[in-house]
Amino acid sequence: MRSMPELIGIEQARRLVLEAVSPLAAEAVGLGAALSRVLAEDVVSGLDVPPFRSSAMDGYAVVAGQGGDLPVVGESRAGHPFDGSLEAGTAVRISTGATVPAGADAVVPLERVEVTGHSVRVPRTRPGRNVRLAGEDVRAGQAVLGRGDVLGPAEIGMAASLGRSALSCALRPRLALLVTGDELTEPGEPLAAGRIYSSNGWALAAQAERAGAVPALRETVPDSAEDTRAALERALAAADVVCVSGGVSVGPHDHVKGALAELGVERRFWGISLKPGKPTWFGARDRVLAFGLPGNPVSAMVTFQLFARPALLALQGADPNATRAQAALAEPVERNRAREQAVRVRLRATSAGWWATPTGEQGSHRLSSMLGADALALIPAGEGQLAAGERVAVELL
Ligand code: AMP
Ligand code: MG
Repeated sequence: MRSMPELIGIEQARRLVLEAVSPLAAEAVGLGAALSRVLAEDVVSGLDVPPFRSSAMDGYAVVAGQGGDLPVVGESRAGHPFDGSLEAGTAVRISTGATVPAGADAVVPLERVEVTGHSVRVPRTRPGRNVRLAGEDVRAGQAVLGRGDVLGPAEIGMAASLGRSALSCALRPRLALLVTGDELTEPGEPLAAGRIYSSNGWALAAQAERAGAVPALRETVPDSAEDTRAALERALAAADVVCVSGGVSVGPHDHVKGALAELGVERRFWGISLKPGKPTWFGARDRVLAFGLPGNPVSAMVTFQLFARPALLALQGADPNATRAQAALAEPVERNRAREQAVRVRLRATSAGWWATPTGEQGSHRLSSMLGADALALIPAGEGQLAAGERVAVELL
């Protein structure tokens, strides 16, 4: 089919993408490799944290009361509890994190005591002072982390504090990345007349890595129907998600759509009412998703962010909408009569919320418009300008 069907909106396209996703299976991942992985289990604590009553200070464990001169009957150090129970009228020397002996119910800090020989003079103290209760942070049986949580340093630290050395995480989606175009030259090679350096492979691979994908295959494909078909066949066999840049428009050298159809990839949409990103194509073959992204470097990155990234997150069971927010426009933005626009913006936080300032010239070939961009501001189609101060949806980059 040469001419594009009716264009659909960003949200509808995103919905069609998410509908095509079936979440990937899970694997056990050691904590050392778990950063940024997506949890595939609910983590319920098997123990109290802290596991026992412990001291918040270096000092003396006592039975709370009037105070006085108390004989020191032993010591409780971190990792080496006092064995025995503390009688009223005695004290046990204790360090931070050490078990508060049975019988004791308060700790008097070192700074507040006077030591003479084998006894210690303590002031009046109330029950519970400087004692951390067992389970004060997490109780045994408490759900602490949930399926779909993205594991950051705090989540990994928490899992460790529960004694977990590995967590069940969603498999990372395998990504096959094809960039098409006879004009493409890899960086590091000399540039012949009429050719350009290929940036899409590098930018998209970096975006995919951030979205949790593992690279399964990456090729530069010439503008021929046979080469395109052969590369796509390899890509579909190797990956959960195939991204192709370029060759999805209506030109005579755009072979991607035809090849995908021949290979049995069922089209879910072609053409989004979006600037940049109009020729974006999406389809699926069984569980494998295929994205035909426009070749222009900004269009490729924008459509990856808006459509392929949510798919990669959803495949891992993570929330694909966690990067949606709202911001006010810091300056007026010209609307497009027919299409929504994804305007690259910098965000600035003020007491009145987030303000979005366009990064400058917004042509789909100007990759410099992506530099320093914090978000894509989604500008609805319409006549005239959207005034400064208007609130718009933003997709955080
Ligand atoms: P296409 O979608 O194939 O018509 O390509 C649209 C524009 O994007 C053309 O100017 C291409 O040269 C450019 N382009 C395509 N692929 C890449 C790439 N990998 N890196 C940089 N520019 C590209
Ligand atoms: Mg091309």
